[in-house]
Amino acid sequence: MTELTVISDAGASIPEARQNRHLIGGAWQDSADGATFERVSPSHGLVVSNSAKGGTVETEAAIAAARHAFDEGTWRQMPGKDRAALLNRVADLIDENRERLALIEVLESGKPISQSRGEIEGAADLWRYAASLARTVHGDSHNSLGADMLGVVLKEPIGVAAIITPWNFPFLIVSQKLPFALAAGCTAVVKPSEMTPSTTVILGELLTEAGLPAGVVNIVLGFGDPVGTLMSSDARVDMVSFTGSTGVGKRIVAAASGTLKKVSLELGGKNPQVIFPDADLDAAADAIVFGVYFNMGECCNSGSRIIVHEDVAEELVAKVNKLSAKVPFGDPLDARTQVGAIISDAHQGKIDSYVKDAAKAGAKVEIGGAPLEVPGLQGRFYQPTVVSGVTPDMPIAREEVFGPVLSVLTFRDEDEAIRLANDAAYGLSAGVWSENIHTCLKFARNVQAGTVWTNTWMDGFAEMPFGGVKESGQGRELGRYGLEEYLEVKTVQLRVARGRSLWVNAG
Ligand code: NAD
Repeated sequence: MTELTVISDAGASIPEARQNRHLIGGAWQDSADGATFERVSPSHGLVVSNSAKGGTVETEAAIAAARHAFDEGTWRQMPGKDRAALLNRVADLIDENRERLALIEVLESGKPISQSRGEIEGAADLWRYAASLARTVHGDSHNSLGADMLGVVLKEPIGVAAIITPWNFPFLIVSQKLPFALAAGCTAVVKPSEMTPSTTVILGELLTEAGLPAGVVNIVLGFGDPVGTLMSSDARVDMVSFTGSTGVGKRIVAAASGTLKKVSLELGGKNPQVIFPDADLDAAADAIVFGVYFNMGECCNSGSRIIVHEDVAEELVAKVNKLSAKVPFGDPLDARTQVGAIISDAHQGKIDSYVKDAAKAGAKVEIGGAPLEVPGLQGRFYQPTVVSGVTPDMPIAREEVFGPVLSVLTFRDEDEAIRLANDAAYGLSAGVWSENIHTCLKFARNVQAGTVWTNTWMDGFAEMPFGGVKESGQGRELGRYGLEEYLEVKTVQLRVARGRSLWVNAG
């Protein structure tokens, strides 16, 4: 077997388990029935947090608090300038608390500490960007409707936003939603994943410290059922913003349909990267390895599906195999580690079965393909894995594996490459590698995806909208569109001259 790069236990001391409570109407609360749940670190096997487990009582109370805070009006009527100042204060507090946030996020999620620090910094940047948008909320006017009419289109906050987030980027994803909702003037109920509640609770503490009025942001800890379900169905909630799996996204749409509330969804992906023969294969190989192992492959944007021209397939796979062996997998608390632990036992089993099933169906496991032992740690890890000879019908080519597993397919001509890229239920992101701008543009214009990268992978900017087509979701986050998601349009038609011509002839 190829020698892998494994980082053993760094010997870091693990802090005492955190105690997390709900934030409802400005007060930190335990659950009415005293129920709690614990999170065991996927890398170290120790309890790292204990959280109040929300039920109907807490969810209803949080929704009522957010509704009251919205209707009462302090936040939505506050000048954008003042809302922006508060969001900037939160960004500064995030920076000040970076190490604390990064450490607990690593312990709950298994992601490497260097990456986690980067995500916290990126999240602070999102709060600052949203602050800048808070001062730009404006509508439109129509001055050509006739001498006596003026039309005004107002942009108003949509109301109470229910924000439901996953475990793979807990702090970054809540920061792709909440500051934009707040910039728009919405109030919110937030539910983090039951696997990674702590950084959202710390965010609640920072919001309070920054001076956010009570009830504007409420946090309920717990599971999809009942907390997420109630947040999606309650008539007092105006909108659900959800990031997570496509299966749960569909259940949220069904739950929300009773009240026809707006639903914004960021879901899964099976993202293709197409490599043409004229591509810079060294650059492509590095980006492929980054794309598939980043965050252990537990990433909606994972570049898990490579579609490479058959003339260069062997050469590219050899480069990818070589680099795969060099990527440091292991203790996420060691700053050298680039790939950490897998979120749960059930998920590790699912990753492994995709690989074993593909091998049974005739694919070739080039490297990896089994759990990884990390000396000194009681966690669960999976080897960097490359599977070649994958055919489009195999589940490993169509479904989200959500692990450090690359599927390699081949193509013969441009049209076949685009057809294969689009042959998926998902449409989150896609990439193309070629030195020819015409090849890149043709791909970019024909691929079904919310984001296309050419000769790069997974760059992201606060200014650039992000979201999916097909079963990868609806709506957009980030950029100006990320703010628009939380705004409603109101049409105001003003008669501005005296002497409206009468409908009823009174004479
Ligand atoms: P998940 O769908 O299992 O859970 C996400 C959240 O939904 C959690 O907070 C969970 O408690 C809650 N939930 C579960 N059942 C619910 C229900 N019936 N009603 C309301 N809420 C419910 O997802 P996950 O396993 O935490 O995250 C992984 C998934 O997220 C992957 O599919 C990944 O692709 C996707 N994801 C997408 C993006 C994106 O931006 N497109 C980003 C990150 C993750």
